[in-house]
Amino acid sequence: YNHVYGKGKWKEFDPKDLLLTYNALKVLEARYLLKNPETLRYIETPQMMFRRVASFLARGESKEVEEKFYEIMSELKFLPNTPTLMNSGTRLGILSACFVIPVRDSMTTPNGEGIYDALRAMAVVHQQGGGTGFDFSELRPKGDVVASTAGVASGPISFMRIFDVSTDVVKQGGKRRGANMGVMHVWHADIEDFIKAKTGQLKDVQLQNFNISVGVYDYFMKAVERGEVVPLINPRKTRIPGKDYDYYIVKARGYMDEEWIQEEILRELEERGGSVYLDESVIITVDEALVIAEKEGAIVKWVNAKELFNEIVKGAWDSGDPGLLFIDTINRRHPVWYLSKIQATNPCGEEPLLSWESCNLGSINLEKFVIEKDGKPTIDWEGLAETIRYAVRLLDNVIDANRYPLKQIEEATKRTRKVGLGVMGLARMLIKLGIPYDSVDAVYLSYQLAKFIYYHAFKTSIELAKEKGVFPAYDPRRYKDIWESALPFEQLLSTVDEGRVSPEVRKMTEIVDKLDFDQLKADRLKYGLRNATVVSVAPTGTISIIAGTSSSIEPLFALAFVRNVAVGKFIEIDPLFLQYLRKYELDDPEVVKKVAETGMIGDNPFMPKSMRKVFRTAHEVSPEFHLLHQAAWQQWNDSGTSKTINLRSEEPPQTVEKVYLLAWKLGIKGVTVYRDRSKSQQVIYFGIKK
Ligand code: UDP
Repeated sequence: YNHVYGKGKWKEFDPKDLLLTYNALKVLEARYLLKNPETLRYIETPQMMFRRVASFLARGESKEVEEKFYEIMSELKFLPNTPTLMNSGTRLGILSACFVIPVRDSMTTPNGEGIYDALRAMAVVHQQGGGTGFDFSELRPKGDVVASTAGVASGPISFMRIFDVSTDVVKQGGKRRGANMGVMHVWHADIEDFIKAKTGQLKDVQLQNFNISVGVYDYFMKAVERGEVVPLINPRKTRIPGKDYDYYIVKARGYMDEEWIQEEILRELEERGGSVYLDESVIITVDEALVIAEKEGAIVKWVNAKELFNEIVKGAWDSGDPGLLFIDTINRRHPVWYLSKIQATNPCGEEPLLSWESCNLGSINLEKFVIEKDGKPTIDWEGLAETIRYAVRLLDNVIDANRYPLKQIEEATKRTRKVGLGVMGLARMLIKLGIPYDSVDAVYLSYQLAKFIYYHAFKTSIELAKEKGVFPAYDPRRYKDIWESALPFEQLLSTVDEGRVSPEVRKMTEIVDKLDFDQLKADRLKYGLRNATVVSVAPTGTISIIAGTSSSIEPLFALAFVRNVAVGKFIEIDPLFLQYLRKYELDDPEVVKKVAETGMIGDNPFMPKSMRKVFRTAHEVSPEFHLLHQAAWQQWNDSGTSKTINLRSEEPPQTVEKVYLLAWKLGIKGVTVYRDRSKSQQVIYFGIKK
């Protein structure tokens, strides 16, 4: 296997392929490298794959840009999301990982937004390796009337089951599991059933191809805190359909061009502090909207918000579902808020998108930017900035190289040109820097890195606008600069009482404090912007294996574990951990075996203290520190931050409650917990023995 046959001749492996780990090669071989469809012989090496992607995405660019694209990928400094790696330059055209598809309360609609239109759209997206998200809240509840047939509606959950079965059947061309996000907003009449759709007896049985999330609002979270009641609504029965009921934009859309309306909305929002709803030309609050809904007979019943919340918490504790999406936070920080209201996200939550939008992702491998300076490890900020520049350029090119499966998707995507540059390898970067993941220093570093990456990604998008034009829906005046609403680091930290940032880490990141965001704004106003959003923190489930690093912003899951993926079972021992063991002359097979049994060092007294600190794994890190990292990255992120708050198996439901409330307060857009062993099958098992 050191030669491959391609383009009519045999080629040898490129030495750069030796950078790839054994697991990376296995994954690439199983799913990414192109084969001759008849002989099933490989027709490319990993380097040829990177070349294929680079040249496909550099059409119309200089040779130098193409080389840079190739270089950042082949050196594993940056990788685009799976569909771009798999499909660039092939017959399959989808290059993006994330899609949101609307579902209206009708079988089909003339503009293709009915239930079965959505089902079809989902199938074509899955077939080519994309993941889809849906908001099912517009569907009339179970037992409601169906006028055309005088029948009884079966409700959103039974329709979701059809989407689920279809996902099973399509299986994304055999290369990728179908992934869906199903959202229901908390005011929906069927919300109680939705919350239980994947827990209790239905756990491991129903909706197995869905992550589910409840869309909650500030009014709801406040009602939880105060123990108040909230109404459940039948969206079919109200002129203020539930979907708009909380917010201020959708109904206003028709008026948005009139300046006085915009100013009015903004003033009202400020005064009333949160959810405001616009009906015709009148601005009303949630409370006033309720009065109307009540008059229309749309309120099905009133429930205690705290009790509903407890049910959500119980479900998440029991099975990981449902998660929460904070709809107000999402829309408040959506830079192109004036287009419409966001109702849903893609499967893992890193992309809150408008109806029909898609987004392509790519992630920087942070581990590659640790360098030695004066005998000490530090961060290569310059190298990082340069990689960001080419990465954003590459992601922007993906939008035009993409072959969209549906006209609506193409139109919506090209209107805003959203791209999502994220990261992987944070945990390994921290280990190399000698900073424990669960420390104030680490959270500060996350915050500063996120800020630096956002700044340079945004700056690149301005430069691209200068060169290639702005995104069509760009409105310089209404575009919202998200840094104006980023919570300061100190505010995040005030939620836990954990000490201060060390002078060394402050010094290491001082370059970030010098970034000039006022100048950035002036440049945006002068030259425009190429992409409505530029960053997004994805889970990097597979591309982190290809890059041979830790996934996304997660701590190490375990120092040794069994990983179940579509192509088989892997037993992995972290190579960085092995390196440390060697350094301390502890690389004795017996020691390694001992650690491998549980996956962690824990309190093993024979391990040096410094090692015990930096090698703390996902279940040893407290939920607060998991959240703080997510919150740090979310502040400097114009889309979402995907993260799993991993909990030990013995954590009580109260921990989930605490995590969900704290997530809302820390300005996170969506939160998911996973308690170890709470499902019968999980992707990664902790340790080898269990
Ligand atoms: N995704 C999917 N199927 C999968 C894994 C991922 O459709 O089996 C989509 C989904 O939208 C997810 C996004 O890809 O949120 C990014 O996931 P990840 O970063 O893990 O993908 P990678 O590029 O590493 O394969």
